[in-house]
Amino acid sequence: MSRVVQKYGGSSVATAEKIKRVAQRIAERRRRGDSVVAVVSAMGDTTDDLIDLARQIDARPSQREMDVLLSTGEIVSSTLLSMALHVEGLDAISLTGAQAGIQTDEVYGRARIAAIDTARLERELGTGRVVIVAGFQGISENFDVTTLGRGGSDTTAVALAAALHADACEIYTDVAGIFTADPRVCPQARPLRDIGYEEMLELATTGARVMHARAVEVGAIYGVDILVASTFDAAAPGTLIHRETTMEQGNKVRGITHQDRIAKVTVRRVPDSPGIAARIFEPLAAANISVDTIVQNASVEDLTDLTFTVAPGDLEGALEVVNKLLPVIGGSGVVSAPDLGTVSVVGTGMASAPGYAALMFRTLFDNQINIEMISTSDIRITCVVDAARVGDAVRALHAAFELDRG
Ligand code: ASP
Ligand code: MG
Repeated sequence: MSRVVQKYGGSSVATAEKIKRVAQRIAERRRRGDSVVAVVSAMGDTTDDLIDLARQIDARPSQREMDVLLSTGEIVSSTLLSMALHVEGLDAISLTGAQAGIQTDEVYGRARIAAIDTARLERELGTGRVVIVAGFQGISENFDVTTLGRGGSDTTAVALAAALHADACEIYTDVAGIFTADPRVCPQARPLRDIGYEEMLELATTGARVMHARAVEVGAIYGVDILVASTFDAAAPGTLIHRETTMEQGNKVRGITHQDRIAKVTVRRVPDSPGIAARIFEPLAAANISVDTIVQNASVEDLTDLTFTVAPGDLEGALEVVNKLLPVIGGSGVVSAPDLGTVSVVGTGMASAPGYAALMFRTLFDNQINIEMISTSDIRITCVVDAARVGDAVRALHAAFELDRG
């Protein structure tokens, strides 16, 4: 008998009908003798709807109240799934994050899991029950409800798999695994059979929306093998995220990711002296604005341009912060562009072989796509391009790096 933690995403539990089908899948697994913990997301667009609702009341709602509000979405789906399992004739119980022993810090809206007290979970599993855990939430030291950030149910599942020493962690979603690119943008994209944590983390942080990046991080730290597969297409094998096997040969680029929309801010001609970057980025961090790519130009006459990208929703806030700073630090002006996107090429192979950047830039040039910014890691190259050309860039790079052929 093995122990499995499964996670079902919002689209998999979007309706009563789908909840019943998920219950049947869980029941099958349980009847085979496996011990099952199932983590659920909120039904369909519930989380977005709750956010809308809150904003109709208060444009800047209290983050504490927000977390309690959003946690209810997952509580609804977990109770319904438990009921559906009762109808299947199984013993099941739903637990909120707090009841499941998930302890977090108190950073509302993106709390981090500090520890998991598995006593209650072990007790329930010990009686043979299927345990349904409301995803994406926990409880702080002060007994306040917290949430882990959008998409956080993946992190709940992987963390539970680690804490419970589960034999398997399975993330069920509406797509058949991790693809070489987003199939909606690139019809040639193919599902990957497996991928290493490091590559998956780069994919997740540069636009692959299938997995929460923090879940991959937790998986890497605790060595949890994570299977990402389709909820309702049982024939599709899915993608296994696991520790890299260096024996693997083949294509050294594993995937192309993209972000549809990002915004860029340039602070022009600031003095090239120690502390300037800190004085710009500290207040941005204090305003809770997360900055993505940062480029500082080589300075000319001791003046330099500093450019960074942010999510479109953060542009206004970033401009507010930077404009206020400008007279203090002495820059010549601020310019911004709201309609950019990114395209990234990811693969561990590029760390040891030259030519990847050249092929990427050549491909973009051949397609007359202008590169606005470039950033790299050991295993990734990202170009910021015009939002309108992101799709063309993804398709062209997918072909150029021979991902079309498998
Ligand atoms: N319901 C939350 C969200 O939509 C968490 C999750 O789905 O994982 O972001
Ligand atoms: Mg979701």
